[in-house]
Amino acid sequence: MIKSQLPPRPTNGRRIEDTIMDLLEEDPNNEELLISKLETSHSFNRDKSQIYSSILKVLTSLDFKESEAKEIWDSVLENQNKLSSCLKRPVGFRVALLDYLIYHNQKIKNPKIIELQLFSETEKLILVDELTRLYNRRHFDTALVREFKQSTRYNLNLSLLVIDIDDFKKINDTYGHLMGDEILKQVANKISTSLRMEDTACRIGGEEFAIIFPQSNESQAFKAAEKLLEACRSIQISGKPVTISGGLVSYPEKVKRCEDMYDLADRALYTAKDSGKNQIVIYSNEKRSSLRFETNLELFCVLPNKTIRSISKNISITGIAFETEDDLALNDSIPVLLRESDSNHEINAKIKVVRKEKIGEKIYSVGAEFVELSHDSKIKLADLYLLHQFKAKTPIGVVV
Ligand code: GH3
Ligand code: MG
Ligand code: MG
Repeated sequence: MIKSQLPPRPTNGRRIEDTIMDLLEEDPNNEELLISKLETSHSFNRDKSQIYSSILKVLTSLDFKESEAKEIWDSVLENQNKLSSCLKRPVGFRVALLDYLIYHNQKIKNPKIIELQLFSETEKLILVDELTRLYNRRHFDTALVREFKQSTRYNLNLSLLVIDIDDFKKINDTYGHLMGDEILKQVANKISTSLRMEDTACRIGGEEFAIIFPQSNESQAFKAAEKLLEACRSIQISGKPVTISGGLVSYPEKVKRCEDMYDLADRALYTAKDSGKNQIVIYSNEKRSSLRFETNLELFCVLPNKTIRSISKNISITGIAFETEDDLALNDSIPVLLRESDSNHEINAKIKVVRKEKIGEKIYSVGAEFVELSHDSKIKLADLYLLHQFKAKTPIGVVV
């Protein structure tokens, strides 16, 4: 039977809709009772103002504002009474709802009837990652927006953790892809078992996961992240622990807009990787491992088939940020020449692109680390640094 082939529903990220589903499973013909059952439930305090819209969402997959949902609810009850007295037999709530949505407010024109559980399982298939049984990227994107809205509306904390398995390529290369998959499943399992019911865990890329912590401030989420890091260390291959790195960002402490949450958590993740892996880094707009200065140095990147010229945006002893039209590969080592036009400073170095963001039709914002910087070049860089300090440019805290 189809049901047994479907992945089980993720147990985390439990929402009011999941409880409505369970109540409907227990008692399918008593939709009216749902309201009182949900109102007395203590688990959904922050969702309580969404009861009518949540029930209609489960029953119809349509989105209504709560006030409109309440009006529809009352009209459907009225319609149910009318239909029952016309037909001289009890008419169910859902029959009356369908009649109302087709003939009264015409929200539905061409309905399909499907068993609720079957629909829900099919819907979950689209949202669940087959290998790990965690939610996928598609669900992550909508869940983050939903949780952010809830948090701003009710003035609640929200934290996002992005984690990535360390040296996973090496695991695949040494032990094979099947072992790699097994490790992914085990990490996912540690994630699911170490979280609270209301947290949402997703696999958002190959060996990258995201966890949304509603009603959690920075330090609460950090504790949960550290617990997870510890739990993952108990997974071992040939006696060596599997380690992960994570980046954490919290609303409202460090981020104000939903669209910045992932990017900032990801930046903190890069910092965790850059500073030795096997750790959680909290995103901070003040934390500067080294000061960066706005500069307009000429930057020449020597690629195998051409040399591209760009102008730096900011620079530090450890890295450089610039914009380019070329889609540079991440992690590739690129020989570069840096030149300041009004001095005789010329620095030869190699850079490794660690961050790349498409910011326009054909323009990328790039963050790169200096690698293989000679002693001589470091001194020249320090000179440049002092020169810029001397020119009293404002230090900024961009993490590249
Ligand atoms: P870092 O510590 O910096 O994260 O290095 P890394 O080796 O973990 O990162 P990198 O991004 O270089 O490698 C990720 C690897 O994950 C490469 C890719 O082949 C592997 N991968 C992605 N998805 C899957 C999957 O579903 N199964 C397996 N076995 N491997 C996967
Ligand atoms: Mg990795
Ligand atoms: Mg990765």
